[in-house]
Amino acid sequence: MKYIPLNNGTEMPVLGFGVYQIPDHDTCKESVLKAIKAGYRSIDTASAYQNEVAVGAAIKESGIPREEFFITTKLWIADNGYENTQKAIETSLTKLGTSYVDLYLIHQPYGDVHGSWRAMEEAYEAGKLKALGVSNFHPDRVMDLIVNNTIKPAVNQIETHVFYQRKEDHQFLKEEDIVHESWAPYAEGKNDFFTNEVLQAIGNKYQKSVAQVALRFMIEKNIVVIPKSVNEDRIKENFDVFDFELSADDIQQIEALDTNKSLFFSHRDPEIIKWFSTMIE
Ligand code: NAP
Repeated sequence: MKYIPLNNGTEMPVLGFGVYQIPDHDTCKESVLKAIKAGYRSIDTASAYQNEVAVGAAIKESGIPREEFFITTKLWIADNGYENTQKAIETSLTKLGTSYVDLYLIHQPYGDVHGSWRAMEEAYEAGKLKALGVSNFHPDRVMDLIVNNTIKPAVNQIETHVFYQRKEDHQFLKEEDIVHESWAPYAEGKNDFFTNEVLQAIGNKYQKSVAQVALRFMIEKNIVVIPKSVNEDRIKENFDVFDFELSADDIQQIEALDTNKSLFFSHRDPEIIKWFSTMIE
């Protein structure tokens, strides 16, 4: 496993296991157990995914010491603000069955994120959160958080895949010493991702799949990846990406696939912000 140093002196595995859209307890627990068996030690969950209990149960059942894992969870928008965040942190720790999480992210850049951050800073000082970060923050929102608070985010988890490579965000985050983490590394299969001819042709040269090429492309740029799967073969396949390297020509071809547009939605779209606000009521 390759580890990426975070700006607070800790480090994070470059490859983890995402559990979004696995709300069923048993399916999630079984998937995490399969991932642990395959070698994953980093798990990305969120209070909004409603599966923190299943993730915690799988980690416990694995028998592997807690310290060997890197657990990320996220603060949902309904819990933004100082006091709500204090409670949400305790709830997540209880559900996960752990006294600390390795990385705690503000899930969405809306509402009282500064109040949330103050509560997160206190929990960090208390040893309950080992690193703090954000998700879905554009550079302006990241800078606003940096200049108005004490602890700088260590990670920003944003939509990133071959069709939306976030080159400007990547450069900004690198200059600020913040790790770029990708969500939806396969674009959730959108845009015929898994049959992309460029990725297929590159994969054929190394006996690797489209999925493996896409992960490798980001790993080589020090972007953390957290692919999700409930299928044991695909879970293993997604972990088997450390025995080949892309050439400069491969990288150039993949860089040309970038459309610089989200395949989901813009976090700056007023209608989207309004839609998110309905989830708080
Ligand atoms: P993704 O990882 O891009 O794609 C998952 C889809 O790809 C599933 O349908 C999965 O199906 C399929 N798949 C997985 N491996 C495959 C392979 N090797 N070959 C073919 N198909 C494969 O999408 P995601 O789950 O949205 O993103 C990954 C993680 O990022 C999430 O689980 C979550 O932890 C995080 N995330 C965060 C945010 C945020 O706002 N912060 C948003 C979205 C996601 P099977 O399960 O059937 O294999």
